[in-house]
Amino acid sequence: MVRDEREERVREPAVAEAWEALVATARRSADEGLVVGTSGNVSVRVGGLVLVTPSGVPYERLRPQDAIAVDLDGRQVLGALSPTSELPLHLAVHRSTDALAVVHTHAVHATAVSTLVDELPPVHYMTAALGGVVRVAPYALYGSDELAENMLGALRDRTGCLLQNHGTVTYGATLAQAYDRTAQLEWLCHLWLTANSVPGRAPRLLSEGELLEVGEKLKGYGQPISPCGA
Ligand SMILES: [Zn+2]
Repeated sequence: MVRDEREERVREPAVAEAWEALVATARRSADEGLVVGTSGNVSVRVGGLVLVTPSGVPYERLRPQDAIAVDLDGRQVLGALSPTSELPLHLAVHRSTDALAVVHTHAVHATAVSTLVDELPPVHYMTAALGGVVRVAPYALYGSDELAENMLGALRDRTGCLLQNHGTVTYGATLAQAYDRTAQLEWLCHLWLTANSVPGRAPRLLSEGELLEVGEKLKGYGQPISPCGA
């Protein structure tokens, strides 16, 4: 009966809505070039459930009845398709932070940077929007608990990190926020690669004090986050 009760619970409209938003976010990541094929994945939390994209199914083929949910221990409680192979990574974020949504991609500039440095040099003030200088989690096999552990270390006091020779992870209070952080992180990586590619010149980096100052301003003392131009 436990299984039936779980299935009853997850038919709630909130789950259907969350699945629709998750599929839309996954499709957007492909449409906007952050993901090629099914090489990224997305999760969103609804109460004690984590909805997550399936393994190996093109996002345009996902239908409402394909919804997959697991509990925080990774036990599948909804859906027939297999969850993404990066489930340990998503669950680690949901268990360890206040995240309600997690986005993982193999975005090209971010992944390139993950092979070059241990942290993304802070060339732009929007670094502070991710909590400070973005770290690169040491390489480990995809889908492994070791990778999830390395990622958590890199995410300390941050809302995003790079995975060495692999890609990006960001999280947020909504799918839109998690997605936007991935887009910002990819843009920051593209910017650093561009500035750093001028022969004989090295980009000026922001100091710790300058980043702290931006962090305070972005917090807005209770006002919504508003970088210049937004
Ligand atoms: Zn991956």
